[in-house]
Formats: sequence, structure tokens, C-alpha cells
Amino acid sequence: MLKLDFSIESSIDRADYVNKYMDPCANYTAKELETISNYLLYGKDEDGLSCVDKKDVQIKAKHSTWARKDAESLDALLEKPTFDERGIQTGNTRYKNPKPSIDRIADADVPGMKDLWKAIDDVQYLIDVNKGKIEDPTARKLTSTELYEYQHYMVELRRQQFILKDMVKPVICRSKVNITPVYDMFDISIPWDQEGSRFSIAPLGLYTYAKMRFDDPRALEEIDYHWNENAEYVLDFRKPEHIYELFELYGDLETEMSLDVESTATALIDTLNFYRERAHLSEEHNTILDLKIKETPNQLICEVLREKFGVTHSANYISTIYKQKICGKIADAAILHYDYYLNREIATAWKKCTCCGEYKLRDTREYMRRARSSDGLSSICKVCDKEKRDKSKRGEK
Ligand SMILES: [Zn+2]
Repeated sequence: MLKLDFSIESSIDRADYVNKYMDPCANYTAKELETISNYLLYGKDEDGLSCVDKKDVQIKAKHSTWARKDAESLDALLEKPTFDERGIQTGNTRYKNPKPSIDRIADADVPGMKDLWKAIDDVQYLIDVNKGKIEDPTARKLTSTELYEYQHYMVELRRQQFILKDMVKPVICRSKVNITPVYDMFDISIPWDQEGSRFSIAPLGLYTYAKMRFDDPRALEEIDYHWNENAEYVLDFRKPEHIYELFELYGDLETEMSLDVESTATALIDTLNFYRERAHLSEEHNTILDLKIKETPNQLICEVLREKFGVTHSANYISTIYKQKICGKIADAAILHYDYYLNREIATAWKKCTCCGEYKLRDTREYMRRARSSDGLSSICKVCDKEKRDKSKRGEK
């Protein structure tokens, strides 16, 4: 392993150091190479910050590695919110989602990027030689396993380009049509919520930075929170297609989170999970969602469901459940929760469940209709009711 000198702080000096001492003939493992790339990434620029420290940017765009598959069926294609059939039917110009790309001239100003390109070119060269694309008898011969690892490493390096770029030039979402920022002059912890930010989160901002607002709106005294409706991008948790996009980005967000726990990627995941929990998904839906997050093919999901729940679904139907039911339910949970917030000071809007004792909104989303009761609603909430029915189904009391 190359001994890294952590007393060197600047990214430029670190790159020089690596160039000087990295042995082109050494047998670095993928892990070691990763450490070296992090060593470079965390080097500090003239302003004393590493590009990782600079959180001007939080989310990175989705980008494909070879693991990402094309839509496997018409249904899977239709499932994508970015697919718009109107584009086929009309001759109107439609907004095109910009594909994230790296431009070696335009993006040369991104801190750390040039070092990364050097690494990419070096590794690519080694791969090309070993694949016989370039003749160079002096280059190191890789075993087939090493070649495989280097190719994976290459994907990771290319991925890092987008992380770096997004730190400086963020692209929150590919579909401009769907997304618009949150603005709260009292909350300066989220770049999105800062005045003039191009990004905003509807309807209540991010859970991580305003837990009270989310966890116990009834105990809260504040003037209504408003997201910045004029922001260029608004990510709205009440829209199923936005929920869908977030789950599609989940792997990328987790990567981002692992690089920096305090990044807004963490806050986004927390917020998404807050709403997911409130959606009270069935065990089957939770299983589908977990597998979808891991980008499991529908066919495989079908097999898991058959084994675990004894149900038979077609692969296409999985897409329908995922898009319409699961993402829809989570969006509904966000809508309901926002109503909690808006009604937080209106005593008559609430009704206490006689089973769990929680205050819930006095409406049919929370309580079943009961013609004979005074307010036309049952005395126990839907969540408790379902629990009771499930229990009696299992033969418990
Ligand atoms: Zn209850």
C-alpha cells in the first residue's frame, strides 16, 4: 500500500504526492485505490476547504453505471414519471431532461476535478492496454480478476465526477416540470431554505432540521411555514412522481450520505422515511419497496413475494403497485401530515382515538364512517381498526 502523507493538506500537493509515489506496477486493491481517491478528494483548496467540505451542493444527479438496466417492459417504461406519452402524440416542443454530463472544458473549474480526470485517464489507459485496444508492452499486465476490479473502479471514478460537479453545480432533479424550493427565513441550516436558493422542499421542509414541526405539530407555536414557491426547483413530498424520483435516487443519496453524514442527502432520506413510516404500508408493499430501492428486477421481486406471501403477481403488476399504490400512499401520507400541520391550532379538527389515544384529524382518512355515531365517524382510528382486524384474522384476541 502506498503510504499516504496526511500532513499534506492541499489537494494540489496531494495529487503531486500521489503521482510521485504511486507505483504503476504495484498491485493495489480496489480498497486501497478508494483510499487514495478519498485522500485526493479530501485535500484542501486555497480557501482551506476540501471539495467535500464545501456543501454548496447537496444532491447529486442520478447517473447510470452499468448496473442500471433499461426498462424491461412497456409497463416499466410507463412507470417512469419522466415518460410522457403526450410527447408522442403532439408536435409541441417539450422540456427535455438534461442528461447529467461532464464537460472537460466547462467543468475544469470544479475543485479536484482535474486530479480525478488524471486518475481516470491513467486507469482507462491500463484497461485499454489490457483489453488489447492499445499496444504498450511496458504497461502492467492485469489478471482477469484485476481487470474486472479496475473496470468497476473506473465506474466509481466516473461517478465521483458527478459527485464533485454536483457539489459546485447542483442538479437536484432531472425533471424541471415537476420540481419547484422551500424558503424559511428563520432556518439557515439548509442551503435550500436560504434566501435566493434555487431549491425548495414542499410542504414542510426537511424533517432533520425541523423535527418538532414534523413530530408534534399540535405542540408547535409558529406562523405557518411556507416553502418558496418561486424557487426554480420545488421537491414536493405530496407528489407521487417526486416520491418515485427520490426512491430512484436512493442509492445515490446513500452514497452521498456515506461521504458526508451532514449533507442534505441525509436529510432527504430522513424526510422520505418519515413519510414512508406514516404511510403504514403493508408488509408486502414494504417488501416491494425495499427490493425496488435495491434495483431488484421485477421478475425477482415476484419470486420473493411468492415465497414470502404466497401471492402470484406478474412482473408488470409490480410496476403498477410500486408506482400507483406505494408511491401514491406515501404522497397521501405527506398530504395528510400537512393537514395536521395546517390544523394544528384548530381544536375541533381533532378527534382522540379511544384505542391508541392519539389525536387524529376528524375525517374519513383517519376514521371509518359510522352512520350512528354523533359525528358520523367511528371511535377508533383506521390504524387501530386494521390492527384489530389483523389480530382477529390471526386468531388472537
Ligand atoms: Zn388509534
